[in-house]
Amino acid sequence: MATGTRLAELAAIAAGCTRCPLAATRTQVVFGVGDPDADLLFVGEAPGRDEDLQGIPFVGRSGQLLDRLLAEELGITRDQVYIANVVKCRPPDNRDPKPDEIASCRPYLEEQVTLIAPKVVVTLGNFATRLLLDTDQGITKLRGAVYPVGGVQLVPTFHPAAALRGGGVVLAQMRADLVRAKQLTGLAS
Ligand code: URA
Repeated sequence: MATGTRLAELAAIAAGCTRCPLAATRTQVVFGVGDPDADLLFVGEAPGRDEDLQGIPFVGRSGQLLDRLLAEELGITRDQVYIANVVKCRPPDNRDPKPDEIASCRPYLEEQVTLIAPKVVVTLGNFATRLLLDTDQGITKLRGAVYPVGGVQLVPTFHPAAALRGGGVVLAQMRADLVRAKQLTGLAS
């Protein structure tokens, strides 16, 4: 069966998910978007207000920055990659996702990684990086390197929200990380 069909089936299951308390407060499940056969998978933290309303990851301010960086550093648009989150439902008031919520949602992300089988996973921020690298270390320490994990190359970088808050230096480091990811996918010119 085609990857897109299998992802759509998983999305349909996730749409009715009640594995954790976030089911009670979400507007909709934000499963993921993009090319099911993408070489590049981006993993964020959790949907915010805009994402919860639209059902699409990274459509708010962080998403606009991500789109800009995709264009400027990789020369591509978001439909050429796949974008998902650690947690598929919005935590109320944009609080951090809790360990039990992350654990409940983890099988969806793991299945997305297996089905899409990207060459490179770019983790955006601490939550995605710590989960997929199985570490307690922070993003500031981990970024700047490439980590082989189960057949994919993992490139940790800052969450776009950190670049929006932190400004020039954080943004420059994010750009460097995306160039690293681009080189690993073979997109580099
Ligand atoms: N921040 C995230 O981590 N994910 C989104 O989808 C939007 C903002």
